[in-house]
Amino acid sequence: MRTEDIFPEALSEDRAYLIDGDMSRQPCVFYFRKSIGDDFATQVLRCVQYARSSGLRLDASVGTDGVYYDDDKSGSKDIERPGYNKLMSDIMSGELSGRFVIVRDQDRLSRRESSVLEEYHVITDLSKVRTFDSSGREIKDDVTTGIIAVLSRSESKITGHRQRARKELRAIQGKAPASRVKRIGYTLGYEAIDWEEAKMLRRARKKVVAGRSLSSICNEMREQGVVKPNGKPYFVTDLSRLLRNPAYAALRVFTRDIEVEGRVIPKGEVVARGSWPRIFTEDEHYEVVEILSKNKSWATEKAPKHLLTGILVCAECATKMAYGHKYGKKHKDGTKKRHYVYRCQKPRGGCGSVSRNADALEKFFIQLTYKAIKRLPVVVEKVVDTTGSEIARQQGKIDDAVQAFKDDRIDIATLADIRQDAQKKIDTLRKEQKAKPQPLPLDDAESFLKSKDIGKQRDTIRRFFPVVGVKAVGQGVRFHPDQLVFPE
Ligand SMILES: [Zn+2]
Repeated sequence: MRTEDIFPEALSEDRAYLIDGDMSRQPCVFYFRKSIGDDFATQVLRCVQYARSSGLRLDASVGTDGVYYDDDKSGSKDIERPGYNKLMSDIMSGELSGRFVIVRDQDRLSRRESSVLEEYHVITDLSKVRTFDSSGREIKDDVTTGIIAVLSRSESKITGHRQRARKELRAIQGKAPASRVKRIGYTLGYEAIDWEEAKMLRRARKKVVAGRSLSSICNEMREQGVVKPNGKPYFVTDLSRLLRNPAYAALRVFTRDIEVEGRVIPKGEVVARGSWPRIFTEDEHYEVVEILSKNKSWATEKAPKHLLTGILVCAECATKMAYGHKYGKKHKDGTKKRHYVYRCQKPRGGCGSVSRNADALEKFFIQLTYKAIKRLPVVVEKVVDTTGSEIARQQGKIDDAVQAFKDDRIDIATLADIRQDAQKKIDTLRKEQKAKPQPLPLDDAESFLKSKDIGKQRDTIRRFFPVVGVKAVGQGVRFHPDQLVFPE
């Protein structure tokens, strides 16, 4: 066996760096021992990672290109270990003097008989060779080493560790993630493309790129009877998660931070190009991810339904209060009264201890804001601001273009052009809008009171009262202005 057979292809660059890089680095050698149920690859991975991070150099002038190894096939006690014997004789002859020996873990040196380890300590000590495991612990004649020697006799203690390294290596090699469940778009184990599902993904991606909202795509799929493998309809969150998944462009990510070629790649980021079939090209993948991240609001963008959501917060835990209902005490006839309330909700991360009558709260804020508008100095010269309507006009352009694309009147490139152009204008207008002092959405007290546009009413209230806390008082839902907390 040659060392090329031991080092996985994915680590060849690392190996070259360890051998040919800066020659002033502390020289080391590796010792690998393959036992039943184990492999060289994960030992190599761990030792290479350790050597790189500690600034070591692999001394290729000794051993087999700097490596000593044993391929234990038998589980019997008196196994021949030519690699280990060669290592020991090189240590004794002084050939490895001043070098480090790196092993993945202590039990590579000796698992069964502690006498082997004792002998090892004596010889390495005499020959000025130090030994480290891949976590950086020095293996020497001390208590820890003794305890580990005892522990490592129980195979199970190290299995988890080994499996973790194996998973990392699979990721670096770009192998498909191991999974017991079938991923949408693929057959089990990413072996082949499930064409029906892949078609769904490709269509959805196209529509997102064309400017459609995820919710409208979901609605359309529901109408067409396109459902998840479990029979449930696709929701916005499903589609968003699927379309962002790099696996569809055969890009491999890892669930933890991982070190590749001396660089730490944070969890969830691309580690390697995968070897399984792709449903999107990389460009297609990055394109849709960019659009989805820019348009987070698409998923939820709807007219506000309730006057005070986003304004009221729980004064106990600062969670935004939501609109909902709550049942009161039982009447004599067994029925319960349903109260509509603003409340702090546990599912939204709140404490759940505050709920107040919605109608009373809304009436109170309408009156309060009405009075506040009346107190304002009369606007002699009406502020004319066309920015808002210009934004709406540009948005309309996009909508028209999307419709035209759907009707096959324009192609995707034209749509993209129109969209980009209009979006740029909208962004500029929004910036201008922010810089200018804004008139109230409803700047006349009477029209505020009469308005049927909850969104505008709410925006007007918010200009006076951006955030208002609501305190917990007793069990009921009755509202009193004393319960409100207005920030300074
Ligand atoms: Zn709360």
